[in-house]
Amino acid sequence: MSAKVIDCVAIADEIKVELIKEIKDLGSKGVTVGVATVLVGEDFGARMYRNQIEKFCGEMGVEYTNADPPADTSEDDVVKIVSDLNENKNVSGIIPLRPFPEHISDYAIINTIALNKDIDCFHPYNMGKLTLGEITFAPATPSACIEILDRENVELEGAEVVVVGHSNIVGKPISNLCINRNATTSTTHVFTSMAGNLEKHTSGADILIVAAGKAGLITSDLVKEGAFVIDVGINRVKLTYENGNPVLNDKGKPKSKTVGDVDFDSVKEKAGKITTVPGGVGAITNMMLMRNAVKAAKIQGGLV
Ligand code: NAP
Repeated sequence: MSAKVIDCVAIADEIKVELIKEIKDLGSKGVTVGVATVLVGEDFGARMYRNQIEKFCGEMGVEYTNADPPADTSEDDVVKIVSDLNENKNVSGIIPLRPFPEHISDYAIINTIALNKDIDCFHPYNMGKLTLGEITFAPATPSACIEILDRENVELEGAEVVVVGHSNIVGKPISNLCINRNATTSTTHVFTSMAGNLEKHTSGADILIVAAGKAGLITSDLVKEGAFVIDVGINRVKLTYENGNPVLNDKGKPKSKTVGDVDFDSVKEKAGKITTVPGGVGAITNMMLMRNAVKAAKIQGGLV
């Protein structure tokens, strides 16, 4: 039986409508929801993300502030930019867009963000609170995974959850969020794979959340029949013909496409529910960020 494919775009649209209403209501009480991004230099991926944030701020009635100093800006000057955003009443949330140039330490910037404006939960204090289960802001991508499960009425208490990937910004906080909800949670990573133990863990998972950044890592033999599979990974892969030759575009360049970490076609025949890439977790991630911006505005407006 083929898995139910979760329509994450529809979920994101629902959340968007809910948030737009809340943002309007807050506006009528004199509370501004505003988001600032800090992008230092010209990293292509970071700039694409910045443009996306600006677009959905515009669509949702959220004030957008752009701070994009050139790549040779000193660390002290970037710290000053973030400090000024901390004081700016029109900015409820600050999103540092990484990677920063090499001479700028992530920690110097992240540790400068006001705790109640840290809407993607980068600051070690907010991450510590998340680990303690006393969440102010949960990071956007991990929250998106939980949101998908909640909207599908999945009971996390007592569920066997396996997370693949243990990065500080995705895998670890996903695991912590699941532990906070009393799921029996295993966190696997590259050393699990190297020890030959990945399948041993993933094949027992009721809920399998994959955030490794490795296309095709999860094949159907690694998945339990009926499992809920959430694919966080985003990978660009070259399109090839069956004989392995690259598919070329009009200009003779190899064509590529975006895929997740899960071998979707085989896994969907075994899983109970599955998300897609693209059109999966990423769509909801943006809305989680905006939800945190709304919460930050409420905190700053003394409403919570
Ligand atoms: P990352 O920092 O590179 O971390 C990847 C994690 O996967 C690491 O913990 C790594 O283990 C583990 N891993 C790598 N190869 C593995 C293997 N063969 N078996 C098991 N574990 C393996 O990446 P990230 O920032 O966490 O992001 C993960 C993926 O999610 C990426 O594809 C990224 O593009 C995507 N992403 C999506 C969204 C979204 O909104 N949809 C947001 C953020 C990120 P070690 O640390 O031990 O090497």
